[in-house]
Amino acid sequence: RPIDTLNRAYEETNEVRGSINGKNAAVVHWFKNDLRLKDNRALKMAYDLAQANNAPLICLYILSPQDLTAHLASPARVDFVLRNLKVLKIDLEKLDIPLYMETQEKRRTVPNRILELCEQWGVNHLFANIEYEVDELRREAKLVRLLADKGIVFETAHDSCVVTPGALQSQQGKQYAVFSPWYRSWMNYLHQHEQNLTVLEAPGANSSSARSQFADLFDSQVPDAPANKRLGKEEKQRFSKMYPEGESEAMRRLDRFLKTKANDYNKVRSMVDNEYTSVLSPYLAAGVLSARTAVSIAKDANGGYLDGKNAGLASWISEVAWRDFYKHVLVHWPFICTKSMNKCFKPEFTNVEWEYDSEIFTRWTEGQTGVPLVDAAMRQLKHDAWMHNRNRMVVSSFLSKDLMIDWRRGERHFMENLVDGDFASNHGGWGFGSSTGVDPQPYFRIFNPLLQSEKSDPNGEYIRKWVPELRDIKDRKAIHDPYNRGAAAVAQKAGYPRAIVEHAASRARALQRYKEGIAR
Ligand code: FAD
Repeated sequence: RPIDTLNRAYEETNEVRGSINGKNAAVVHWFKNDLRLKDNRALKMAYDLAQANNAPLICLYILSPQDLTAHLASPARVDFVLRNLKVLKIDLEKLDIPLYMETQEKRRTVPNRILELCEQWGVNHLFANIEYEVDELRREAKLVRLLADKGIVFETAHDSCVVTPGALQSQQGKQYAVFSPWYRSWMNYLHQHEQNLTVLEAPGANSSSARSQFADLFDSQVPDAPANKRLGKEEKQRFSKMYPEGESEAMRRLDRFLKTKANDYNKVRSMVDNEYTSVLSPYLAAGVLSARTAVSIAKDANGGYLDGKNAGLASWISEVAWRDFYKHVLVHWPFICTKSMNKCFKPEFTNVEWEYDSEIFTRWTEGQTGVPLVDAAMRQLKHDAWMHNRNRMVVSSFLSKDLMIDWRRGERHFMENLVDGDFASNHGGWGFGSSTGVDPQPYFRIFNPLLQSEKSDPNGEYIRKWVPELRDIKDRKAIHDPYNRGAAAVAQKAGYPRAIVEHAASRARALQRYKEGIAR
């Protein structure tokens, strides 16, 4: 596993961590998916080391367009990252800490460039938080060795999960592949290791020599990225209004959600007709908010309980835990993270026969399937770069089972469009919806989009908002299935298509295909 490669690199280079070699030599924190000052483990370690040695702290961000392409980062996601970098730069400057930013076209040149910069700045200690994707872990291991050869220590921290991947094992010493027992173990672990929920302070002011010694680094500007150029002015304005940048905005959202919505979360989290969830996912995905902070503050709001007491808060904490679960899975079973994202977690589904009809796939992406809830959700994704969890489950099930289109196409489309695209959670979600993943919904449980629609949007408000062709259908039953419930004329006149498939028939086909795939 790539995580073992990183650990081996540490063992073999025999690094002395937590100390500094040259007197007053600068210390660097390398920002990646951790765009915040507060509760940032590697940044705190870097700052503490610099302070203890009266050494300056420099922050670094390297933008690699190739990296963004490899991760299928959506324009909305890239725009969100760039906006957050601007805030980060301003916040760091107030502390006399420079944030040096540059572009490295090719991702493979990043380690050598970091070495070059460390040498140029006379740095012998670099810090970063670990990213758990395969290529990233390999890059980190490479960097440990590369820097060690030049006497520079590269120290990494586990920061992105509340509980570090690998810390939880079943009684048989195995990694969990089912959420419920894993979650009990996650909770027990946090009861026993309360320090895991300690929210770390942001760094204070930099050493007094930083301004004079590294004056030019303060002029560094946020780079641009090709993906960002694909966004028009109107889209940029819309996204900055919907997802304002900055960690103080993330904290405000968290606070507002906990005060006004979290109490009922367990009852309404599957409803899509209003905003009942936190919409913190863009902030968590880019590390503008730490999951530790989110859980810790929710626990405080729940009177110190992670589980029990207020069912709404407890339920929300367990949803944040899903994020940890999928990252743990990724670290332990990295085969799911190949370049083309083409591995089923459950090998028995490798031979299921999928469809590859581009026209049908496009009708799904464009919200033209003739199934109102699916179309509303896909149009929301296009417009907001975000979608409610229930709808993510419905549209992923619809694509992979009703349409039998290879779920990997959907997984890719989501990453290319979501503002909160996160490999582990997205892969996990698609594995759930298509029943090919870790702890999925059983393949024979196939969401009925009509029933889902009636349950999650009983009055059709959500559908009316996103599918204007159906706005004039006032009947709360007909809006979910206009052609079969007496509103065909309205739908037809507005140019809304008939359903692309008939659910009972497509369900039967899916069951057949899955059964045959398993038997192959
Ligand atoms: P809330 O309900 O307020 O939950 C709080 C946080 O908990 C979320 O922000 C998220 O970080 C985490 N969370 C909640 N549910 C899940 C879950 N099922 N899996 C993992 N984390 C969860 N989430 C992503 O962050 N990025 C993705 O790329 C992504 N792709 C998905 C694809 C599919 C097919 C499915 C079914 C789910 C996917 N999810 C993904 C999980 C989930 O849909 C979103 O995290 C959630 O909808 C974000 O809205 P929120 O912030 O209001 O969530």
